[in-house]
Amino acid sequence: TAKRERAGYVFYDSSQNTYSKARLSLNHDIIEALEHDQFDIYFQPKIDAVTQNLCGAEGLLRWKHKDYGFISPEKVIESAERAGVIHKLTLSMIEKAISACSQWHKSGHKISVAVNLSVRDLSNKDLTTKVKEFMDKYALEYHFLTLEITESIMMENLAISLEVLQKLNKLGVHISIDDFGTGFSSLAYLKKLPVNELKIDKSFIIEINQDANDKKIVSAIINLGHNLGLNVVAEGIETQKSMDMIKAMGCDQMQGYFISKPICKTSFQKYLENHEKN
Ligand code: C2E
Ligand code: CA
Ligand code: CA
Ligand code: CA
Repeated sequence: TAKRERAGYVFYDSSQNTYSKARLSLNHDIIEALEHDQFDIYFQPKIDAVTQNLCGAEGLLRWKHKDYGFISPEKVIESAERAGVIHKLTLSMIEKAISACSQWHKSGHKISVAVNLSVRDLSNKDLTTKVKEFMDKYALEYHFLTLEITESIMMENLAISLEVLQKLNKLGVHISIDDFGTGFSSLAYLKKLPVNELKIDKSFIIEINQDANDKKIVSAIINLGHNLGLNVVAEGIETQKSMDMIKAMGCDQMQGYFISKPICKTSFQKYLENHEKN
């Protein structure tokens, strides 16, 4: 159960794609891994639905524990929050993403990069300053960085979220609402917050070709997003069929296993070289 998972740690078995139970305190290991810069970032391509051109990548945390192998990013984030090092971890992910994106630009690929934020990140007073610092250091323009935030993260403290997001957005950083459609909040925040993108949750996309309700929901989200002038992204594209359907429905961008799984930095560089320059 969820409660049980929260109490201990669930380890991700990448070969089986299943979770096996093991209870351990990871806090210490996470702090140490952070000190030694042992967290890795993988990139999942995001393509334009119309042209099929690569337009960006989402950076996803990967950590191979020395004894337990790969641990799911959700678990790592949760422990990092508990250990009080989430700010540091997020900043390190942001720096890795910006650094990689700047390299892609140097090789002629002007695509964007996205990083996920966690609940506590919006109360980090340093976030905006650090983002500025990294963008300067790697000479990347602000609009090539997207920060993905879930509704629940914003709702946790709307006043703080508003302030931080406005600052970032003023700089030119893009804000994306991740897992859109799974939150329970009203949609009123969409007109208050500086949002650029809606990312439709994969639970509506994965079986879209078999589920009429999913299709209706996705269609409604695309219309809502477009009426608000937002970029709409579908994640969780696993089949040609769902890709065709999403495309026909007018979604702007697509991401999912059918296009590519998240891949390491080196593989992503190769992926870039095999795809047209924008
Ligand atoms: P998310 O932000 O919703 O990221 C999408 C997740 O869906 C990723 O899982 C990705 O590998 C997976 N995915 C991509 N395409 C498909 C598909 O076609 N089908 C299916 N079934 N899944 C697909 P991942 O990498 O295990 O990450 C899980 C979650 O962990 C993320 O969900 C995000 O909430 C969190 N996360 C990952 N990296 C970070 C990070 O650096 N910071 C924070 N705060 N959270 C992170
Ligand atoms: Ca995300
Ligand atoms: Ca998501
Ligand atoms: Ca998610």
